[in-house]
Amino acid sequence: MFVTMRMVLLLAVYAALFLGIPILISVYVYRDAKAREMPAALWAVVAALCPAFIGLVIYLLARTGRSSLRCPGCGGPVQESFALCPRCGALLKDRCQKCGFALERDWTVCPSCGQPIPEEGRQAVPPVKKGDRGLQWLLGIVIAVPVVLLAVVLLSLVSFQGVADGGTSMMGVDAISASDLREGSAVAQWVAQCDAAGEDGIYALASVYQDGDTAVSCCWLYLKNVDGLVNHYSQREGGLLSDSALVVDLTPDATAPPAYLVYVEARGSESVDGVLVTMEGETLDCAVTESGEALTYEGQVYPYLAS
Ligand SMILES: [Zn+2]
Ligand SMILES: [Zn+2]
Repeated sequence: MFVTMRMVLLLAVYAALFLGIPILISVYVYRDAKAREMPAALWAVVAALCPAFIGLVIYLLARTGRSSLRCPGCGGPVQESFALCPRCGALLKDRCQKCGFALERDWTVCPSCGQPIPEEGRQAVPPVKKGDRGLQWLLGIVIAVPVVLLAVVLLSLVSFQGVADGGTSMMGVDAISASDLREGSAVAQWVAQCDAAGEDGIYALASVYQDGDTAVSCCWLYLKNVDGLVNHYSQREGGLLSDSALVVDLTPDATAPPAYLVYVEARGSESVDGVLVTMEGETLDCAVTESGEALTYEGQVYPYLAS
């Protein structure tokens, strides 16, 4: 199985979406509910588990406005009607000098006894309204994440379209013997290394070079005692979840040579990311070596095979 950077990245995004956001919501709801003296653990669970933010919406509708006012002295929660902070005793409302009635800040006359209220006599500091920054952040994240995700999907569709529009031409040569290779060529050296490794299996030597505007992706496969012959080869286009790949499909065949080479090449506007060898729907293990050289078929075999 191919594990690519793209898959890792996508998994991280999904993890953030399906785990991170509910965790953020439940932390916010827990702290907010605790400050409002509501059952915090219960609301945190409801907010995290109800799908599509329904839990959060219900909580925001149900929560009491009890703690939105704060004492300017100690920061503790106070209510609109308080004349004093019950925790630190800070003066929140002035009193009428004549009758002691608790006065609002914008009054000029005492409503109880009609005494004018002198401006210079005011000493109370009114409670401060606590802004809900946590909620602003939370809503920002809840809105931004799907927008970013949508942008990623759209961008990946655009690049997918680019590959499809570019058009790809494929060529391949089956069942090349190692003795057909030009002596000392890069592929001959690589085959010698594979033989030295000694194990049966499939080895791939991949290289990419630029031919004008065309990216040429070359792939040599060396099959050692695989008991399969090439059925067909194709290019799988990259999508959101997978890289593009040269796909070589084998059919089981006991008469296959014990060790032989296959050459596959794709020409297109973009290079191909990987190599995939399959047999009857299964992906076979393949030891891939990347090379910086242009390892074309013509460059690696004896001249009489080049035609
Ligand atoms: Zn206070
Ligand atoms: Zn009064």
